[in-house]
Amino acid sequence: MTVSSHEILVLDAAEVSRLFPMKEAVRVMETALAALARGEAVQPLRTFMFTKDGAGILGLMPAQLQTPAALGLKAVTVFPNNARLGLDTHQGAVLLFDAGTGRLLALLDGGATTAIRTAAVSAVATAHLANESATELAILGSGVQARTHLEAILCVRKIERVRIWSRTPEHARALAEEMAERYQLEVIPVRQPELAVREAHIIVTVTAAKTPILYGEWLAPGTHLNAVGASLPDARELDTQAVKRSKLIVDSVESALAEAGDILIPISEGAFTPDHIHATLGEIIIRAKEGRTTASEITLFKSLGLGIEDVAAAQFIYQRAREERMVNERDERGEEVKR
Ligand code: NDP
Repeated sequence: MTVSSHEILVLDAAEVSRLFPMKEAVRVMETALAALARGEAVQPLRTFMFTKDGAGILGLMPAQLQTPAALGLKAVTVFPNNARLGLDTHQGAVLLFDAGTGRLLALLDGGATTAIRTAAVSAVATAHLANESATELAILGSGVQARTHLEAILCVRKIERVRIWSRTPEHARALAEEMAERYQLEVIPVRQPELAVREAHIIVTVTAAKTPILYGEWLAPGTHLNAVGASLPDARELDTQAVKRSKLIVDSVESALAEAGDILIPISEGAFTPDHIHATLGEIIIRAKEGRTTASEITLFKSLGLGIEDVAAAQFIYQRAREERMVNERDERGEEVKR
């Protein structure tokens, strides 16, 4: 048996960001979620382990997409104390394999991939579910996801005003200043989440909160909400009323019923049953299920994050890198054809 060495593309966060512009990411995520809804993907539930000291989580997220053919795995770590060290709390790597031979093609920075693809998925949900006339955006949280979410939502709606709340008021103020400058927008830091949410047409929750920071009684008719934080069964950002009042859309029903405290806690309280989940985002995209049907209904997209999103992102980025000749061409056995 011979084992030939081959080139593995390694991309750091800056290269991932450069090769995966938000507008393209929105399109790639929409295609991937549609493929999942059509049954053209393999998407097992992710596995998690807590580190022995409980300070961190390591998650494994394998997935496969048929078209374009992509096979991969994200190994994601979450270390909340990183924030104090000035490091991103979410780290990791996305591995992309040749879908025909299983050979490793690329290793991408997992933090940057996650930051972009998650926000792009929320933009897809917003494009399909928010009222066309939505101009007021509220962001609860001021970390990595808050930044990419503003960029993503601006891709799909004409936002005129943004209100940002964060647990640490100084973080909300700093982010508001930075975003106002970058996008030439009115961005207002507020001291209470309610002040951000009451006037909003679109809301994004991107915090590491484990208990509710958003209450259903604050939601105005017609609001669209992307709930992105809280991805463990015992953690939630939304109170029961917020979920109960909303038409509930998820990325994956299987994940929602295994991981989403925002949904599982109200179910355990008897507030509603799993039937309260109206559809997956993919089903809305392919029009297998209806999305918003009236201007006044409240729509909620509960995002947990799926391996297919990372694998679709990695496949797109790898292709872009090939177009830029950052990596050699391959024949059908996966052997490199030298430039
Ligand atoms: P960051 O660590 O960059 O930011 C965390 C944010 O959460 C900060 O704004 C922080 O506020 C706030 N926060 C932390 N603890 C609390 C608390 N107890 N109550 C209220 N706010 C709190 O994280 P990211 O931006 O990378 O991720 C944000 C959330 O999104 C996380 O829950 C993460 O797990 C989730 N996520 C979801 C994904 C998905 O696909 N659905 C993918 C990636 C992340 P401050 O700094 O002001 O104190």
